[in-house]
Amino acid sequence: MLKNKSAIVTGSTSGIGLGIAHALAGQGANIMLNGFGDSAVIADLVGYMRAKYGVQVLHSAADMAQPEQIAAMVGQAAAEFGAVDILVNNAGIQHTARVEDFPVESWDRIMAINLSSNFHAIRAALPQMQQRDWGRIINIASVHGLVASAHKSAYVAAKHGVIGLSKTVALENARSGVTCNAICPGWVLTPLVQKQIDDLALREGLTAAVAQSRLLGEKQPSMEFATPEQIGAIAVFLCSPAADQIRGAALNVDGGWAAQ
Ligand code: NAD
Repeated sequence: MLKNKSAIVTGSTSGIGLGIAHALAGQGANIMLNGFGDSAVIADLVGYMRAKYGVQVLHSAADMAQPEQIAAMVGQAAAEFGAVDILVNNAGIQHTARVEDFPVESWDRIMAINLSSNFHAIRAALPQMQQRDWGRIINIASVHGLVASAHKSAYVAAKHGVIGLSKTVALENARSGVTCNAICPGWVLTPLVQKQIDDLALREGLTAAVAQSRLLGEKQPSMEFATPEQIGAIAVFLCSPAADQIRGAALNVDGGWAAQ
């Protein structure tokens, strides 16, 4: 379905972004991976994806906290692939603390990576999507873009901002073939969440299994994690003609979290 299309997926060396990159490549899209990690592991991933999917795969080490590196990454993808048809803004980090104890540098870094990077990537990628009158911008927000949890002030503020940005970009391009939407996962078992499970287990003296079920039990009625593969499949759906009129939506994939 996405043959001859090209995608950038930020933060795709791990977790949800990696799941989305696999799903888009599986539909024939060329992929610009982005994110940190061991360079040998990333080189293996690039080679594996090229062989498995028969598409072009590149990796950019651009830091999503650095606007000029984001613009350079978009420029590189457009130059190498000839276009950026799909932009998935996924890179994100977390820090938890009460607001009065929240380190200012953690606030600034979360805002830069989880929110401002979306703006910088969108403004760099949009003009050439508008020229071709087709584009898909998919921002990975969170259920924390819809509701809050204690100790996550920066993350919740940034993710609410991502949903607002998605709506605005959708409206500004409503009469074109460029759509912009947000996906709002609840708990997905990735390194980002594993760290929160480990912290909970340590803090409360729990086994990993009990900490995991406590985490789910507090918020996610299904008591099951969503998976990177499911989020990838939803990103593919948003790239399909069936989703042409889905614009400015915030799709929660949260096991019922926000329904409560
Ligand atoms: P993860 O920690 O597994 O992966 C994060 C990715 O972002 C990695 O590839 C990492 O290298 C990259 N990254 C981090 N900082 C970066 C930077 N400055 N520049 C470039 N890349 C950077 O995390 P994940 O759980 O897969 O989360 C991905 C996105 O999904 C985040 O935006 C997160 O907020 C969101 N999300 C996750 C969950 C969840 O339960 N895991 C739920 C809702 C939303």
